Formats: sequence, C-alpha cells, structure tokens
Amino acid sequence: MGENNFSISGDDKTVDQALRPDSWSDYVGQEKVKENLKVIMEAAKRRSEAMDHLLFCGPAGLGKTTLAYLVAKEFNAPVKVTSGPALEKAGDIAAILTNLEGGEVLFIDEAHRMNRLIEEVLYPAMESRKLHLIVGKGPSARTLTLDLPPFTLVAATTRENLLSGPFRSRFGATFRLTYYSADNIKTIINRSAKILGVGFHPEAIEILARASRATPRIANRLLKRARDYSQVNGVGIVDAEMAFKTLELLDIDNRGLEPHDRRLLKIIIDKFNGGPVGINTLAAALNEDKGVIEDIYEPYLMSLGFLQRSSAGRLVMPAAYEHLKIKRRGEIF
Ligand code: ADP
Repeated sequence: MGENNFSISGDDKTVDQALRPDSWSDYVGQEKVKENLKVIMEAAKRRSEAMDHLLFCGPAGLGKTTLAYLVAKEFNAPVKVTSGPALEKAGDIAAILTNLEGGEVLFIDEAHRMNRLIEEVLYPAMESRKLHLIVGKGPSARTLTLDLPPFTLVAATTRENLLSGPFRSRFGATFRLTYYSADNIKTIINRSAKILGVGFHPEAIEILARASRATPRIANRLLKRARDYSQVNGVGIVDAEMAFKTLELLDIDNRGLEPHDRRLLKIIIDKFNGGPVGINTLAAALNEDKGVIEDIYEPYLMSLGFLQRSSAGRLVMPAAYEHLKIKRRGEIF
C-alpha cells in the first residue's frame, strides 16, 4: 500500500505516539477550533506574549491532548503534563508552578477532578502569575507571595459542567470539541494505516470508520486490532471480512456500540418501556455510576439519535429500536 513503508514495532504506547499528529495539517477536522486557535496564537505571537489560558472540553479521545501539544509546539514551548486526580495537595501544584520555565505550557487533563484547594492556588497563578504560599501554622502563619514566569495553562475536561464558575472564567478561551464526521475519521484511519505500514481495503476502512464512535482514538484502536488480526492470520491486507471479524472479537457492532451501550438501551426498553426514565433510576438499574453514564455512554448514543435527554428523563428513540431489531410497543412489522 501507499508510498510510505515506514513500519512501527514496539508496544501500543510507542505506536500511539507515532499516530499522534504533530502538525496542524495532520490534525484532521475541528476546523472552527483550529481557526479560532490560530487567531489567538497569532495575536499572542505578535504581542510577544505567552498564550492566554485555554480550556478544551469534549468526550475522551477527540484530540484535546493533541491540541495542547500543537499549541505548545507553535510557541516552541515545553509542555508539563499533569492531571486533576494527580494533584492532591496545594503543595503538589505549587511545586509544579514554581518549576515552570518561562512560556511553558502546563497541561492539566481531567481538570474536573481537581479539588478546590488546587483551584484556589491556580486562581492567582492564572490571573496575575502569583503564587501565594502559606508558611507556618496557627497565629504565626503568614503568606508568602512568589512571582511566576509567564506560562499558559491548558486544561482539558470531559465534563465542563463540573468545573466551578470562577475557574472557568479564568480561561481566555474555551473550545468545545465535537464528534468527527465519517469522512474525517476515514482520513485519520488512512493516515494511521500509512504510518503503521499496513494495507487496508477501502471497504475495511469504511467498516472500521463506522464503528469508531466518531472518535479518533477509537478509530486508531480498531485499526491496530485489525492489523493484529491480519498479522496473526498471515494476511497482508485487511479486507472487509477481517474488519468485521475484528469488530466481532471486540464485541463491537457496526455502529460502534459496545455491550454496555446495548445494555443501557435494552434496560430502558425492557424495564422502563423505552423511557423516559430519570438518570438516578437508570444508574441504579444499570448498577453504574451516574457520571460514567452521562459522560461516556450517553454522548455517543445521543449523537446517533438513539437516545434523547429530556427534563422527564432518558428516552430511547426509534432509530435505536431499529438498530437493535426490537419492535416498539404497538408496532406492527
Ligand atoms: P483526548 O485528549 O481528547 O482524550 P487525544 O488528544 O489523546 O484525545 O487523542 C487521542 C488520539 O487520537 C491521538 O493520539 C491521535 O492519534 C488521535 N487524534 C485525535 N485527534 C485527532 C485529529 N484531529 N486528527 C488525527 N488524529 C487525531
């Protein structure tokens, strides 16, 4: 296939790094986000300032981390990476902030999982590049203020609504990433296939793209598994049959639904007559965390038009019945 015979060996992590776009032209889709970012970056460059703090929101695997690296690259800035759950005490974030180099990008993933103590250290750091440290205890405690170098905080979250208002308001710009079009996913798969040096029949790409949940990370994951499968079977090129077989092995259907998605829809249909059912009742019936349902399961099902959220609760839509081949009540085939 293709002109690029460069082949990657090694573990998944190395492969993932190789697949991550490191130029704007390789970053497919999200045109509006890219366009706006470029304006902000250009303006900051002309003023010779560090970039404003940025917030990237959207479901996992849509390219938030990749964007953070691309922004840093644009400024030739190093990136320091941490995440909400990794920051427990005020001292954790203070240590990171005091070690920042001028212009550095600090990337905080899963920012909604940061506690208030950390946020409170970040407020003055983001606003006026000050770090207030409390030294000592009791009546002799005093606040020490340190100046920080210019830096850009890039935060990513899958749950924007869980961020506090004051924290959100300290970002210069907020970008919401959306699911990718089928064409964009196909472009991503084609690019990744070239990097991995694997041949894919166009039909196989079509099948994997449709099952990718409109998400680049999942597209790449399916591609890697299809490659494994073809290698194990000693076949040089992944065809439609092999793509279907890969999905079957992973228990993923042709629209990318996984067992937990089908279970969610079936429980609403079987136990709650198709809905509407309140999220708390649904979480109890599924024995699943409400946040996981809202955060991971529902967005894609809604994007397919399989599920609707209303004030009365969750409702399974006709398209889902059709997909699952389940008759609606009173429906005559
Ligand atoms: P997030 O931080 O939103 O969870 P990542 O930035 O880690 O997502 O993206 C996951 C993977 O998906 C990346 O390593 C990259 O290979 C691929 N990817 C994400 N966005 C794009 C894109 N716009 N174009 C091409 N590949 C992408």
